[in-house]
Amino acid sequence: KKITIAIDGFSSTGKSTLAKELARYLGYVYVDTGAMYRAVALFAMQKGYIGAAFFDKKSLIKSLPFIKLTFKFNPDLGFAEMYLNDVNVEKEIRTIEVSSYVSKVAEISEVRSKLVEQQKEMGKNKGIVMDGRDIGTVVFPDADLKIFMTASPLTRAQRRFKELQKKGDNVTFDEVLKNVEERDYIDTHREDSPLVKAEDAIEFDNSNISKQEQFEKVLKLVNI
Ligand code: C5P
Repeated sequence: KKITIAIDGFSSTGKSTLAKELARYLGYVYVDTGAMYRAVALFAMQKGYIGAAFFDKKSLIKSLPFIKLTFKFNPDLGFAEMYLNDVNVEKEIRTIEVSSYVSKVAEISEVRSKLVEQQKEMGKNKGIVMDGRDIGTVVFPDADLKIFMTASPLTRAQRRFKELQKKGDNVTFDEVLKNVEERDYIDTHREDSPLVKAEDAIEFDNSNISKQEQFEKVLKLVNI
């Protein structure tokens, strides 16, 4: 029997790595909801609605009907890539610039309700692993399995820093740590769907366990 798996937690806790591995192993669909919020942030940047010292929320809200978000499976990568109005934006949405704006965009209720609606629709077919901040609480409150991932900010910043360096992003460790802490703050303090552990979610602190160990532990929970 196929089930619905919700994975939530702070940024760079290894949510997407775990979710992708689970989906691949189980033959499920993987949905990265962070990519959707990132694509909306990229759209706002491209239109000049958001910048270092300004944010024209009204214009972004008005544009929402013209933002089309789709996932297309890339067989070479083994997961789906994000398309914004039919353009592949998978690389662009991962930059530190997008990371620095995305939580401000994700605070807007109108943005959240549009994305949540689309996510609920995708979940109508069982056999899905979705990761984000509000999957177990808002998107799939009835998910069969809910995981909540944590790790210390330092551990998470180190991971994100390595990833960005590999991609050739010219960024300092301090910038990455500051971004991780800022996003934690905004994500846990926003009015609409703040990041909290669902009561029935199982918590994993993965600061000190390997990816493999974690994967095996979660797989046991799936097989119950
Ligand atoms: O998961 P990722 O780090 O790519 O998410 C980027 C940002 O999108 C988060 O910091 C958060 O502000 C927002 N987000 C959200 N709700 C989700 C997924 C992501 O608010 N379900």
